[in-house]
Amino acid sequence: MVHVARNCVICQRLTSDFSYGVDCCNACKMFFRRHVVKESPLKPCVSGNGECSSDTLAGCQFCRFHKCLQSGMTLEPLIPKPPLNELFEKLSKLDSYRYQILCNYYPIDPDLNVATVLFFKRVIYTERDPGSQMNFTSWIYMSALATIEFMKMFAFLYLAKPEDQLILTKSSFMNVSSFCAAFRVYSSNQEVLSFPDGSDVLPHEFENSRLEEVGNCIRRRLISKFIDLKINKEEFLLLLVLIFCNPALPNLSETGQILVSTYQNVYSSALFHYCLQKYEKCGPIRYTELLSVISVVGKHSEDVNNYYVILQLHGLDYSIPSIVREGINLL
Ligand SMILES: [Zn+2]
Ligand SMILES: [Zn+2]
Repeated sequence: MVHVARNCVICQRLTSDFSYGVDCCNACKMFFRRHVVKESPLKPCVSGNGECSSDTLAGCQFCRFHKCLQSGMTLEPLIPKPPLNELFEKLSKLDSYRYQILCNYYPIDPDLNVATVLFFKRVIYTERDPGSQMNFTSWIYMSALATIEFMKMFAFLYLAKPEDQLILTKSSFMNVSSFCAAFRVYSSNQEVLSFPDGSDVLPHEFENSRLEEVGNCIRRRLISKFIDLKINKEEFLLLLVLIFCNPALPNLSETGQILVSTYQNVYSSALFHYCLQKYEKCGPIRYTELLSVISVVGKHSEDVNNYYVILQLHGLDYSIPSIVREGINLL
């Protein structure tokens, strides 16, 4: 058999290998495989701008990985797909980690922004006094932080370019946070969205009938959907990931779209298989019902945006931390 040498589409070295759908040398193949299979984070771009050329590519994990994606290397078969029980255990642990931060810690810096939480190696938190009082502002601030800490543990987020990480996080952390709160409230047989100490998730500063109306939708819409569907913990966990694993966001880069849409396939097929396993013949119907939760999250998000815009119009948005403003498009 004659092997014709071609250039590796990643690093341009001569190679006769063909792997993951492209001509690529063994070194690039192993590099890509290692990062996807082990979901190991990438070191930042060595030149700082994400534009290393092919002769310096081998020394830059960030650019090499994104070149692999851009060149069309197939990603999905390499993504770890643990058995469902292991997947649920992993997601459940991450969710508990989020809840631990939310309920027990507070950062030293009272005004962090999304980029700092995403890209700082570690935000410093101190343990809260068990008796310490949390008000609306401190709860919503902690909810944002705990949610972003949770989201950044997912490979499709931390393997993405920094600009894509910001888009994905800013567009979803408020929804992810509400979704978790709604499931906690629903699990304790309550019907009104609240922070963990039972206090209201909206600021009480203003009497206005329109605000009251939108506020009631915010407090009840998601929970009543959970009640309708009698959603369980496993379904909640997979939907939770699907809320922020959304490739349809405007301005995502090409590699961002590849990463997020591939992981979206992996998580939605896990949900589909779970439905088949649990509901057998009715599995496909259940799967469709569950996905309808995502559009309810969209409505919830519109309500939240409307609510805060009304507050802002009346100059009553002073209790809203800047990190939360980043998540709801407030100035
Ligand atoms: Zn190569
Ligand atoms: Zn680079």
